Amino acid sequence: MKTSVILHGLHNEFSLDQMKACISLAEKYGGSFRHVVTGIQITGIEKDDKEQLISELPEGVTTVIHRGVNSLIACVGKGKCKNGQMETQDLADYIERKHYGRKTSHKCKIGISGCGRNCPDAMVKDIAFIGTSQGFMLAVGGNTGMRPEAGQILLRKLTIEQAKKAADILIDWYAEHGEPKERMGKLLERLGNPLEKINL
Ligand code: SF4
Repeated sequence: MKTSVILHGLHNEFSLDQMKACISLAEKYGGSFRHVVTGIQITGIEKDDKEQLISELPEGVTTVIHRGVNSLIACVGKGKCKNGQMETQDLADYIERKHYGRKTSHKCKIGISGCGRNCPDAMVKDIAFIGTSQGFMLAVGGNTGMRPEAGQILLRKLTIEQAKKAADILIDWYAEHGEPKERMGKLLERLGNPLEKINL
């Protein structure tokens, strides 16, 4: 029986060495590649080979979990894109290293855009940081799926350090209070804005 595995690199970037190793694994186990929202998928592998393939993944490449902080996509941001209003890499590194893979009641996706052109589709992520000329705008509760919704804008004009603190608070809050299968947008509807009275 055929199956697949989805791979994640640090905020969805893969080094050339990591990519070469993943290509070798796909060849070895007879698979092919697809790009999906959460990362790179190796498809068409035998179910019995999956665990062995995972055990041979290169350092820094992990498999994507279903329930938890399972996707963090950041564009290149200011300094690497002419349109960028905010740098994205420091914030993405911080969130990824601290929170990626944490168990939560349902999936938790994070998008970080350097400007409002929004190449990473951040507005349909559970947590979105979108760069403006005055700092990051924060939107929470976006999702795709059966009833796609844009996130609700909770804060504007955040510095990178304030954005880090906001991410910490939101993810801790979701991990603590989310009910089984409840996405962050539903938790926001149920409990209200956890950042409302917080001075970042
Ligand atoms: S979202 Fe803006 S800054 Fe980021 S890659 Fe797209 S155009 Fe560039």
